[in-house]
Amino acid sequence: MKIVFFGPPGSGKGTQAKLLAKELNILHLSTGDILRDKLSDGDSLSIKLKEIMSSGNLVSDEILNQIIADKLISKECSNGYILDGYPRTILQSEFLLSFAKSNDINLNIIFNFKIDFKLVEKRIIYRSEQEQRSDDNIDVIKTRLDKYTKETYPVSQFFSQNFSENFFTIDASQEVSKIQKELINIIKKGQK
Ligand code: AMP
Repeated sequence: MKIVFFGPPGSGKGTQAKLLAKELNILHLSTGDILRDKLSDGDSLSIKLKEIMSSGNLVSDEILNQIIADKLISKECSNGYILDGYPRTILQSEFLLSFAKSNDINLNIIFNFKIDFKLVEKRIIYRSEQEQRSDDNIDVIKTRLDKYTKETYPVSQFFSQNFSENFFTIDASQEVSKIQKELINIIKKGQK
């Protein structure tokens, strides 16, 4: 099972992806988590990444595409995966689709998490108190939401048009357990 999650930062897609990956026994492939792991390397790349990520901007497509290409052909992904936070730009989406085509990969389901930006701001402020992520504060969240609107929203629109039968929009303002049930129901229906 290969699943793609779209949604703005703070829409809860990371939480849902973790739960769903466990339920389906597939890999939760969060590019944000992968990049955050690299921050502790202490090399010049990690310094550059930290600067970009803590400002709310996007890391280059080249770096992200390489990360994804390496992961998708790895053993960890053999049972399936949830792409959480990728693709985020048109170039990433083009890369993913051409990579999928040449490697005979079928993306089964696309979930699009929809949520009011005001609610996102509230959630992010709360998360910053809990997790102390350097990119979770009100100044940075504005940049992150702006990047989502300009760069990632058009990608989700492209997927909604080109994968319309497998594309499902989810009301992300609902409770965690309710959303999780909804995702599982949609997947079950697709398997019948
Ligand atoms: P996330 O945890 O998905 O919100 O990602 C945290 C940060 O990592 C983002 O604000 C970006 O700086 C960077 N990042 C994660 N995924 C991508 C991506 N696909 N393209 C570019 N930057 C990314």
